[in-house]
Amino acid sequence: MPTFKARALIAKGDGPHSSRRTRDDVERIFVKVNEIWLQAGIRFDCVVLDWRPDPATLEEIVTAASERRGDADALKSVTGDDPTEVTALYVRSIGGSSGKVFRPKRAVLVVDETKVSDSRTTAHEIGHLFGLEHWLAHPPPEPPDRPPGHLMARTQPGVELTPLDIQRVEASLPSCGLTPTG
Ligand SMILES: [Zn+2]
Repeated sequence: MPTFKARALIAKGDGPHSSRRTRDDVERIFVKVNEIWLQAGIRFDCVVLDWRPDPATLEEIVTAASERRGDADALKSVTGDDPTEVTALYVRSIGGSSGKVFRPKRAVLVVDETKVSDSRTTAHEIGHLFGLEHWLAHPPPEPPDRPPGHLMARTQPGVELTPLDIQRVEASLPSCGLTPTG
């Protein structure tokens, strides 16, 4: 089973983007994320830390996520240029969405008030790091997205990976940029 290193950073301080989550909360999230990703034989060895970034850096990251941009220059100071491990950022809000992925930085971001469970949101965004996309095999509007039950359905609570998802994840492993530790 491939194991990947992950770092979960919880925004702290007095700023508007600080998360209310505790390290215990996020450790619990990653226990469930590992249960979900066990379906693909993947686990994350996650270190959970309080994070006190420079306010301008955090502002830029949150703004990029709010505007649904897929990368943010400011993330470089957090992840480095070409990270080989997952970074999961926990912030208060990005104005409506539950989470966002920043693929070039192998980073995901999750808000305090997620519309589906916080572990599902985290696991879903990580799915994008392994090349999984929302299901659009049938052109909209029929069906607009995957039916409930699937991890990569948008705004649905499901946590299942289909056999095709698992094949795609396995195929992405050599090129996803993440280096397994075991
Ligand atoms: Zn998504």
